[in-house]
Amino acid sequence: MATALITGSARGIGAAVALRLAKDGYNIALNDISEAMFENNTIIDDIKALGVECEKYICDVSNFEQVEKTVKEIKERFGSIDVLVNNAGITRDGLMARMSEEQYDTVIAVNQKSVFNMCKFVGNIMMRQRSGRIINLASVAGVYGNPGQINYSASKGAIIAMTKTVAKELGSRGITCNAVAPGFIKTPMTDKLTDEQKNMMLGQIAMKRFGEVSDIAGVISFLASKDAGYVTGQVIEISGGIMM
Ligand code: NAP
Repeated sequence: MATALITGSARGIGAAVALRLAKDGYNIALNDISEAMFENNTIIDDIKALGVECEKYICDVSNFEQVEKTVKEIKERFGSIDVLVNNAGITRDGLMARMSEEQYDTVIAVNQKSVFNMCKFVGNIMMRQRSGRIINLASVAGVYGNPGQINYSASKGAIIAMTKTVAKELGSRGITCNAVAPGFIKTPMTDKLTDEQKNMMLGQIAMKRFGEVSDIAGVISFLASKDAGYVTGQVIEISGGIMM
């Protein structure tokens, strides 16, 4: 049975993607930065109830050594890694004039360097398998920029460039690499925004609703599927039509 690794998957979009890929028949390797994220959380039982295998791996995806060790463990446990979803991400928002170096560097490390770490080690496994699907979580902020998010927008813009580079480097080995760029999706990450910020966003969305985690999971399921075998290096916006 094929295996999918989803980073930052204890909650939010990552958890929804893990459940969806489990429904699609993949064994699931979950990841998050701390054990606490899996407490009071039924994700592992929910996935196992679908008849597939599931393990959790605690690892900071911005840490090169931890990622190398974790990827090795997952390969030993499941035998292959067929789908990688680089989902873990954080925000540390603030206008550039007031943003600290720490705010900037932390977001770049967690959102952007993690994609290098994961693509490098999982990519090596996929190259030996001569097949694989990599799906990266970018953002509309990485396409259009967003005031108050110079760190986040930079990290997500870089993910788009990395997606195209990985697609070009690994395409000849039967590996696809695509990105999805969500708009405003209802998760703990966006719960932090003020009502004023939420209303401003809503005004810009053609469909006049915020996205659900299932809106993202469905597109990722397609990109992981056989039907998407000739789609690579693409960025699919899932935003209800923020910009067109
Ligand atoms: P979320 O609810 O905050 O979930 C992200 C998960 O990643 C959290 O469990 C988080 O743990 C974990 N994580 C953070 N740092 C990590 C690290 N270093 N190593 C491993 N795991 C780590 O976020 P979300 O809204 O589901 O977003 C998922 C992805 O979609 C992110 O890449 C985000 O940028 C992207 N996205 C989201 C939206 C949206 O509207 N929600 C829009 C565009 C793009 P902690 O809570 O402990 O930090």
